[in-house]
Amino acid sequence: MIAVLKKNTTKEQIDHLTAWLETQGVEVHPSYGVDYTVLGLVGDTSRIDMELLDSLAIVDSVKRVSDPFKQCNRKFHPEDTVVDVDGVKIGGGHFAIIAGPCSVESREQMIAVAQSVKAAGATLLRGGAFKPRTSPYDFQGLKADGIEYLLEAKKETGMPIVTEIMNANHLSMFEDVDVIQVGARNMQNFELLKELGKTQKPILLKRGLANTLKEFLMSAEYIMSEGNGNVILCERGIRTYETYTRNTMDISCIPLLHELSHLPVIADPSHATGKARLVEPMAMAATAAGTDGLMIEVHNDPANALCDGAQSLTPEEFAHLAEKIRKVREIL
Ligand code: PEP
Ligand code: MN
Repeated sequence: MIAVLKKNTTKEQIDHLTAWLETQGVEVHPSYGVDYTVLGLVGDTSRIDMELLDSLAIVDSVKRVSDPFKQCNRKFHPEDTVVDVDGVKIGGGHFAIIAGPCSVESREQMIAVAQSVKAAGATLLRGGAFKPRTSPYDFQGLKADGIEYLLEAKKETGMPIVTEIMNANHLSMFEDVDVIQVGARNMQNFELLKELGKTQKPILLKRGLANTLKEFLMSAEYIMSEGNGNVILCERGIRTYETYTRNTMDISCIPLLHELSHLPVIADPSHATGKARLVEPMAMAATAAGTDGLMIEVHNDPANALCDGAQSLTPEEFAHLAEKIRKVREIL
């Protein structure tokens, strides 16, 4: 970190600031110019409050030269992380297709969708048991029963399951869940992230509705700093001024996240677009951009889905998409 001090800062003020910075655990290396003094801060600067330092009367500007995220940073871990989900690998050249309905609606629905997505090439099964709905009057999910039906569908098909947690108090219900999803709305629920960090479960962390990549990676850091390195990042669209689509899919974040981090990156074109007909082209674009996997919503009867029917593919449409993705990957 570098702090540039304002013109005419006195030696006494510099010494005072230096002493304070040293109590924060960093070494201070001053360079005295004709007009300005620059302080180079060396060591673990992650605990320095950059805004506070910047607000001091004698400080002109502050710049971080290293990233605040450490454990998920590719600089300190050049090889790709491969997350192993009960034998299904994601990352480092292993491509995963996660498919299934937005919400678990019944045992029969889950088993039927699981069988059809597996036949089409899905490697993991999704389904929401706890649903983060904008309205409290909308279907909130089948909760514990939903997890039960997912486990039954896993038994039928052998596919590991992915489902969302909204409250750390529910963790005991997720004991047999293979991948715990943190939804966009909870990306910065830091207490939840810390609790998940204390487990060794693979965590699928979705990017928040309006979060920068730095914030996204800092959320991954919350999980990893507690000891759980099994984190999968998921781009699911962000809020922009565009209203034709539910969100705007940020394809550029895929190569960028690969540059910045060693964690696997997957893409969810269903929530990113909100429109079934856009899911296949955006899935192909994300695959071409280097994603390590896809999450696709598939429903046996989208018109009557209890949640997100408009963006859900039928099993036939999903089979078509899976074939297109195979072709894109062959070309790559
Ligand atoms: C979901 O995957 O069902 C979901 C709610 O996604 P998001 O958190 O991305 O909106
Ligand atoms: Mn959904």
